[in-house]
Parts: sequence; C-alpha cells; structure tokens
Amino acid sequence: MAPRHQAPRGTRDLLPEESARWRVAESRAHGVLERYGYGEMRTPMFEDFELYARTSGESSDVVQKEMYRFTDLGDRELALRPEFTAGVMRAFLEHGLGGRARVHRLWSMGSVFRYGRPQKGRYRQFSQLNCELVGSAAPGADVEMISLFVDLYEAWGFTDLTVKVNSVGQPGSRREYGDRLRAALAPHFDRLSDDSRRRLEQNPLRVLDSKDEGDLAVLGKLAGKLPHMLDTVSAEDRAHWDAVLDGLGAAGIRHEVDHGLVRGLDYYTRTAFEVHDASLGAQSALGGGGRYDGLIEQLGGPPTPGVGFAIGLDRTLLLMEERGLTTESPDAVCVVAMDGTRSGVIAMVRELRKRFRVESDIEARGFGAQMKSAGKSGARFLVIAGEDEWKRGEVALKDSRTGEQKAVKRVALADELATRMNG
Ligand code: AMP
Repeated sequence: MAPRHQAPRGTRDLLPEESARWRVAESRAHGVLERYGYGEMRTPMFEDFELYARTSGESSDVVQKEMYRFTDLGDRELALRPEFTAGVMRAFLEHGLGGRARVHRLWSMGSVFRYGRPQKGRYRQFSQLNCELVGSAAPGADVEMISLFVDLYEAWGFTDLTVKVNSVGQPGSRREYGDRLRAALAPHFDRLSDDSRRRLEQNPLRVLDSKDEGDLAVLGKLAGKLPHMLDTVSAEDRAHWDAVLDGLGAAGIRHEVDHGLVRGLDYYTRTAFEVHDASLGAQSALGGGGRYDGLIEQLGGPPTPGVGFAIGLDRTLLLMEERGLTTESPDAVCVVAMDGTRSGVIAMVRELRKRFRVESDIEARGFGAQMKSAGKSGARFLVIAGEDEWKRGEVALKDSRTGEQKAVKRVALADELATRMNG
C-alpha cells in the first residue's frame, strides 16, 4: 500500500546515514568558526514580512516570488526566513549589541525557505551557514570574511575552489552602472525573458543574476562587451577594492575578478563574492556574500558597516558526497554476550558508551544470531563476553582491521580500545 502522505514538494527527509554526514560537516565548520572567534546567533525562523521586504529590496526575486509569506491567527504579516542576515541584524539592534563592543563576529546555521521550482540542489527548505562581521568598514574585514569562507570549504575537503570577487559600489554608482547596462542590453531586449525585461526597467543589475537559459545565452554572447561595474565606482570604493585584492593576495587566497557578479539582494555595497562549482549544473552557486554597509541604518540603527556570507549546505554536502569527501563514521564496538554474562554485559556496555560507539543485543538472542548481526554492523571491534573468560575478569577482543583476537582484562578494555582507535 502506498503511504498516504509524502514530504511537501521541495523538502527532504535526511535519514540517519545522511544526517551522520551532515553532522560531520557541521562539526568541522564549528571547529573553524571557533578558531576564528565567531559566536553563534540563533534567531527565529520567521520574522515580520516587512523586515525582509525592506532589506532585500521590493523588486528582488526573493521578495516578489520566493517568500513563504503568511498571516497568523492574530493577523500578523509574517514570513519564514528566506535568508539569515536581516533577522540577525534585527536581533543585533534589538539587543543593543553595537553598544557593547565595536566589532562583532557572528554565525548562524539552520533552515531557510524559498518558494522556487525544485530541482537538483534547489529546494524550498534548505540549510545555510551564515556568517557576519559587523562594525568594521576596513578592507581587512572583507579579507577575514573571504578567508573564513575559503577555510570552511577547505575544512570540508575542497582544495581547488576559486572565489569570484567583484565590487558592486554603492546604490548611487549602481544607478549609473544600471543606466549603462540598460543601454548595452537594449539592442537585445527582444531576446530576454519576460522577467529580465521587467528587471531591465526596475533594476537592470538583476538581469546579470538571471538563471533563465535564454538570458544566459544572451549574456554569454555579450561576455566581455558589457560595461564593468568597477568603472563606475567612486575613488574611495576603488581604493577599498584595491586593498581587498592586496589582502587576498597576502593571505594566499586564490581568487578571480568576475565583472558579471552581482548579488541577488539590494543591500550589498562594495565587495561581493561567490564560489561556484560547475558539476552542480544549473544550481552551481555553493555560497556567496558581500559587504552591506547601509543595511543596519536601513533598519533604523546607527550607521554600522558589515560584511557577511551564506553557504548553502545542501549543495555543499551534495558535492562532498560526489567527491567522496564525507568521512566514515567513527570506529564502533560490537559486544556479544552469553546467557551467563548478559546482566554483567549490560553494565559494561553502559560504561563503554561513555567513550565509544557501542552496539549490543537487546533481545537476549543466541550467540549465533548476535555474531551474525555483528558481522553485518561493520563495527571494527568485536568484544565477546564468554562465560569462562568473564569469570577470569576477561573478555575476548577482536580487531577486524588486523584480524587479531586476544584476551583482555575487563578493567583494561576501554584503554585498550582507545589506544587502538588512536593508533
Ligand atoms: P544566496 O543568499 O541566494 O546567495 O544563497 C546562498 C547559498 O544558499 C547559495 O550559494 C546556495 O548554495 C544556497 N541556496 C540558495 N537557494 C537555494 C535553494 N533553493 N536550495 C538549496 N540551496 C540554495
């Protein structure tokens, strides 16, 4: 009989094996974030709709087409978070963090929601790792952010990724650039998608961000011929950009200038960066970020510069799996008991579980059945609690990696396992 319910379109269940891979990736990320001195922010999964509408830009795809917007039973206009930054900055202001220290390093991890057409690497509920460095306008802050971004990917085993960087200037210079871009794209207007024609009127930069195949073909043909945003940025923005490039060079971070790189949201200023991987197909962006110097003011706070990024964890995990970068689970121990040792084994297993992953029988099955399960489990160590050995204070320990089996004193078992696992 077919099950009556399925997961909603665009959502996924992670079964234990896959969740285990996620946890490995998450814990490697936690290590990097800890070493960079970042602190965790946990904010609500939904906020006032208005918060996102104001910060992401009314004409952005996220606001116009992708928001899970709803009215609750108290008639409040709310939305499931489509990204982290707006909520984190709302919390930053609400709790007066700006008054406590000048510079803040923050990270968040969790689900975000966007209503889009699901495909490989694109879901309606997906996970992001989001980082923000708030309070410094210095190019060094951009360099630290990009360096953290790259080091996270390195911790996940990616060593050959190249970060694309660009400067998107300021809202003022973007208007001038938008006019130039509109003029350059005007002769190709008829071949653009309906969305891009609309974008060309409202916010021409977004045409560069289009995922439509027809638009991509038009843009591909014009590659190298479109105006560069960097030619319209102010002298200050240019100096900032040069200093960021110098810093990336000094840090030894492989990067590439991409003049077509614009971020999907309006709040970005100056530096923008992204990392892509072609093997993901159409949904190639693994993560991206940039500077957002006007955002906090837009939310009613004092002028406060900031720079941040979001990494899509679903795509990152997909790629890790494709490249065999997900690690195996830690060495497990399987304990087999006999009738005369069952009750003693219960306590031993509980003790061993303080340090190791341990499997043991819960159904008082016979020796043969337990040995069969042990063989299937793939556990590296087999501990057999035979009655005679048990009386001597011993168990038999078999290491499947070496094939060796020997008697070990029960009191020394945990240390023996630990030595072998680390050896
Ligand atoms: P963005 O804020 O749009 O730059 O998103 C940051 C990252 O989140 C992207 O680089 C993707 O890796 C990931 N991402 C964005 N949208 C989706 C989606 N619908 N499904 C899965 N991952 C996504």
